[in-house]
Amino acid sequence: MEEIFKIAIDGPGGAGKSTVAKAVAKKLNIDYIDTGAMYRALGLKILRLGMAMSDGMELRALLKETQIDFRGQDIILDGEVVSDLIRTPEVSMAASDCSAFPIVREHMVAAQQKMGESKSVIMDGRDIGTVVFPDAKYKFFITADSKERALRRYKELVEKGQNAVYEQVLKEIEERDHNDSTRAASPLRQAEDAELLDTTNMTVQEAVDYICGKVMA
Ligand code: C5P
Repeated sequence: MEEIFKIAIDGPGGAGKSTVAKAVAKKLNIDYIDTGAMYRALGLKILRLGMAMSDGMELRALLKETQIDFRGQDIILDGEVVSDLIRTPEVSMAASDCSAFPIVREHMVAAQQKMGESKSVIMDGRDIGTVVFPDAKYKFFITADSKERALRRYKELVEKGQNAVYEQVLKEIEERDHNDSTRAASPLRQAEDAELLDTTNMTVQEAVDYICGKVMA
């Protein structure tokens, strides 16, 4: 029987985690799970409902009646494909805000653990190596300078035809970094046994080759 293993990828927003993880998954022929998309889908639903994010009880009720799944590379919220709708700056902030609630984290972590239960996966997020799969065989903390991350996000938005202003993108990246690393529940941090990969001066291909090299060694 083939060995089942997990690759945990964590790091701040815009560091290239998902691009790298997707390519590694393809090369190793394993599943890729974008956990940020799950928080984003919930953030989108909260924005649509105009819900104030202050009440844990209300969030608990909302989670009960919310279905978030993946279909191939698409993310499905209550039966609707929302893959593109979740990539706006508003949804980024809503995802970051709702992800600070322990009830939301518990719910998402349980779902993620289930998704990776019986197969090899590469999963990216903020707490994969620390909380979701603390026993993952391979752990990487991918980061890059915030100005470089903002530039990458900015280019991505422009390519998608969205109206983006670099300074605004940088401000949002720094705000989310602050939110994600200072929250009480599972703040973003490098797991002690994770390898740091600073991609500021690295191409996507170099990062992919580095990770695949470690896994296939
Ligand atoms: O990775 P991405 O930027 O799409 O994630 C959106 C937001 O979801 C992050 O800013 C973070 O607050 C939250 N998140 C999280 N834990 C994860 C993945 C994402 O808290 N595992």
